[in-house]
Amino acid sequence: MEKEKLELNDLADAILPWYYTHQRELPWRQDRDAYHIWVSEIMLQQTRVEAVKGYYNRFMEALPTVADLANASDARLSKLWEGLGYYSRVRNLHKAAQVIMEKHQGVFPKEYEEIIALPGIGPYTAGAVCSIAFNQKTPAVDGNVLRLWSRLTNDFRAVDQPAFRKDATAALKAIYPQNAGDFTQALMELGATVCGPDKAPDCGRCPCASFCKAHQLGTAQELPVRLPKKQRRIEYKTVFVLHAKDLYAISKRPAKGLLAGMWQFPNTDGFLSPTEAVDYLQKQNIRVENITKEVERTHIFTHIQWNMRCYYLDVGGVLPNLHWRTLEQIRSEEALPTAFRIFLPDEKQAPA
Ligand code: SF4
Repeated sequence: MEKEKLELNDLADAILPWYYTHQRELPWRQDRDAYHIWVSEIMLQQTRVEAVKGYYNRFMEALPTVADLANASDARLSKLWEGLGYYSRVRNLHKAAQVIMEKHQGVFPKEYEEIIALPGIGPYTAGAVCSIAFNQKTPAVDGNVLRLWSRLTNDFRAVDQPAFRKDATAALKAIYPQNAGDFTQALMELGATVCGPDKAPDCGRCPCASFCKAHQLGTAQELPVRLPKKQRRIEYKTVFVLHAKDLYAISKRPAKGLLAGMWQFPNTDGFLSPTEAVDYLQKQNIRVENITKEVERTHIFTHIQWNMRCYYLDVGGVLPNLHWRTLEQIRSEEALPTAFRIFLPDEKQAPA
């Protein structure tokens, strides 16, 4: 095909051969099972591919079918998801699996409208599952595809505006080839790697270089345009790692809100001085014998930043209103989100 004749209509002809020879080997690309595609796509939201691989393999080993997921306990799911963040994702996976068992007799639905009706599934995931698992012409437009599309078309509108996504989805839908699942994955792969987010686009290796408008006009590095980010709200917390008789205190977070229902180390709002920390704990009927360590850490959520000061304290006795566990139990049995896991004492340094 002569270069000058290539247009966006020829996108599939350009990127499918590239995808067949350059795609990365990923655990969820071993087959086209809808359950595998669904779980991997949910895990990949806001999370890097390298971080997801281990979680995905463990999850599939523990829960190989939709029925296993539907029947899993909340505690088991939280543990399998521990450290991956955005925990509402796994709660929605659980709910959706139960809907599939009840409404679809345990068989993953094939129709886009049925898939998007499941909890936690939006247009992106529905498009990905429909096209990859069932070879339907349903675009899956994620951040990688938005970036790629803005460059291919030299579109300087903000990619995070709904109108951009809508137009990109409609334009892609019009040019979908027969092998729809491969095309979806090829777009994602090219956007994630060659036309990637972390460095300048590697146009010299790109199968679209001959018809990419931004490459032709020398504007690729100015794209994509994004709306200005909202400032994160900063919150201050004081965290207590309470230690007594080889046990550590954890408590449950409220059932609603950030990290809902997860375990945490006891904590309170604001930065407390050592004296204020001891006073605060005394008011909770916790008698402090000794502060053994103090550290400060930051944990960033999408819209909130926690600046945390953590005190490690030996306390006089195990209080019944908290849950007391050994370090080994916390590590292996309880789901402690990263915001608190960063304060887990090192086994070697833990007080005897
Ligand atoms: S030619 Fe360059 S800017 Fe255009 S799609 Fe390929 S890598 Fe991205």
